[in-house]
Amino acid sequence: NPQQQLQFNITLFGRKDRLLLVHDVTRLVQLEQMRKDFVANVSHELRTPLTVIRGYVETLQSAADHLPGRSQRMLEQMAQQSQRMELLITDLLTLSHLETDLPDDPTEVDVHDLIAQICADARALSGERQHRISHQVDSGWMIAGYGPELRSAFSNLIFNAVKYTPEGGQIDVRWQVDDNEGVLAVSDTGIGIAEHHWPRLTERFYRADPSRNPDTGGTGLGLAIVKHVLLRHEGHLSIDSRMGKGSTFYCHFPRQRLQQRVSEPAL
Ligand code: ADP
Repeated sequence: NPQQQLQFNITLFGRKDRLLLVHDVTRLVQLEQMRKDFVANVSHELRTPLTVIRGYVETLQSAADHLPGRSQRMLEQMAQQSQRMELLITDLLTLSHLETDLPDDPTEVDVHDLIAQICADARALSGERQHRISHQVDSGWMIAGYGPELRSAFSNLIFNAVKYTPEGGQIDVRWQVDDNEGVLAVSDTGIGIAEHHWPRLTERFYRADPSRNPDTGGTGLGLAIVKHVLLRHEGHLSIDSRMGKGSTFYCHFPRQRLQQRVSEPAL
């Protein structure tokens, strides 16, 4: 069938006695596409009834003064849980969009401005937990890429640093460029992640030690989103962490994706 996308994985090994293995993975590719379509459709279809439920819960809450305390607490739970479901659906849709849609033409994304905005949002998220959040990003660096996707990836990392770092902890965001690559490093002084978890962290819904982690209300999809965004920028994610000391997540971008805009000298 000429319409059918045919793909082969070829493994070649051995030096003297060569063996060529050819696997037809066409069916696997089709199944993977069906999985992606299914997730995208289900997420989309769930959104409408959820919006209706949230609307009714909010209406009931606004007229809940006369209700007994227990009923008010139930309504509060319903509001929280439906908000959580909304986040989950949004993240699932983001992920399936990243997996299936072809990227638009890249635009120039200003790294300094983007990080400054996200750090301001992170301070609001920290609120009374009073983390110290600093960023060192030279101005003028541009990434040829997709602004909303980069915002989503960097926000996930910086908000995770806030979520998994106890009150008053330190969060540093740094940007460095050498001949080969540009690296955004997000460091925290939080709970840390044991090394055996590192290879699986970007899997959907994977959580390191859920019993030990604070309940952050996260969806378990954040790092999967980060991984896919970086892939679409020809980059990758790496991690370094020590239990009880903190973690650093590194976003690597190839040098050819970066440009430095030289600022106009003041007249
Ligand atoms: P979640 O919504 O659970 O935060 P993520 O995909 O963003 O999902 O992260 C996956 C898991 O990685 C988290 O559940 C947590 O166990 C771990 N993790 C991510 N970031 C950090 C961090 N900065 N410090 C400690 N653990 C982290």
